[in-house]
Amino acid sequence: MSASSGAGAVLRLIREGRASTRAEIVALTGLARSTVTQRMEALLAERLVVPAGESASTGGRPPTIFEFNRGAGLILAADLGATHSRVAATDLAGGLVAQTAADVAIADGPEAVLGWLEERLDALLAEAGSGRAEVRGIGVGVPGPVEFAAGRPVAPPIMPGWDGYPVADRLRERYSAPVLVDNDVNTMALGEYWASWREVEHLMYVKVGTGIGCGIVAGGRIHRGAQGAAGDLGHIQITSDEQVVCRCGNVGCLEAVAGGGAMAAQLRELGHDASDSRDVVRLVRSGSQDAVRLVREAGRVLGGVLATSVNLFNPAVVVIGGDIAQVDEHLLAGVREVVYQRSLPLATRSLRIVRSRLDDRAGVIGAAMMVIEHVLSPEAVDEALAAAVVG
Ligand SMILES: [Zn+2]
Repeated sequence: MSASSGAGAVLRLIREGRASTRAEIVALTGLARSTVTQRMEALLAERLVVPAGESASTGGRPPTIFEFNRGAGLILAADLGATHSRVAATDLAGGLVAQTAADVAIADGPEAVLGWLEERLDALLAEAGSGRAEVRGIGVGVPGPVEFAAGRPVAPPIMPGWDGYPVADRLRERYSAPVLVDNDVNTMALGEYWASWREVEHLMYVKVGTGIGCGIVAGGRIHRGAQGAAGDLGHIQITSDEQVVCRCGNVGCLEAVAGGGAMAAQLRELGHDASDSRDVVRLVRSGSQDAVRLVREAGRVLGGVLATSVNLFNPAVVVIGGDIAQVDEHLLAGVREVVYQRSLPLATRSLRIVRSRLDDRAGVIGAAMMVIEHVLSPEAVDEALAAAVVG
């Protein structure tokens, strides 16, 4: 049995709303009616699909309508940030069932942070009236580079003690479910894509917080590149000015000029009380002309790098998120000005540059969707059903 004709492929048709009756599945797959009945029985036994009523009859017995059962298990999702984390339980369509957020320092190391995370995840399961047996998968975003296949951070600059730590293995053992770990901007990009931009295939998500990061959705999937380093906009060199030293150790990086941390430092030099990106936002809102000027200028500098990226990648949407996007009227004005001026007309003809719609929920929703697409892929569903028959 190939994955394109198995029960997993049938489930995909139902999940995507392309088929809801046995006859429609027969028509779409070309499978024999008896085979489709068999596939449906396997999916019904696992409660992945449920009967939803009956369609209008064309004479004779009306056909049964089936729908995807988004309540057939829970997904756990975590967005671990530098200083603030969000944890959620979702249904199998990424709908939030329970969530919580707290100030947690990623720099406290994996034992402390993952101990906290496990406690919160167990509490969310209890709140949802479920247990570990209902968990179908876990998705985690972390603020650093990740070896995706292994689920381990790799030399993350702001995560001391996490280099090579087996995050996925630890959670997989505890919850007996598949675990995927990715860089947080990738999960945020995926969250925005699933929540608002399913009709476009190509999207860039740019997070402007203390630093600057970028996640790329190409053809509906995260583009990680050969080594998982794709989208590292923050450390593209934009000036050879030796005075502009970046936290990565290089000189002239984009985030050393246009990141929230860099803007806070410039505001301090001008005599303002500012230590991080949230202070920059506060100063803009309180009407500081220095802060407004810096955010607009940062938008233009970011726009210069995005203009090049737009020519190279030709996205349909650029979504801007992160703390600084809270003052989007200033940031996006600068970005738009430069991108529309400098990118190729064909690349910008229908390009939209918009603010994040999910804000700080993008990370958990994206982490959940990442793992849902994994555990409900035709291959994974076929495997799980085969295991259920054997077990
Ligand atoms: Zn840098």
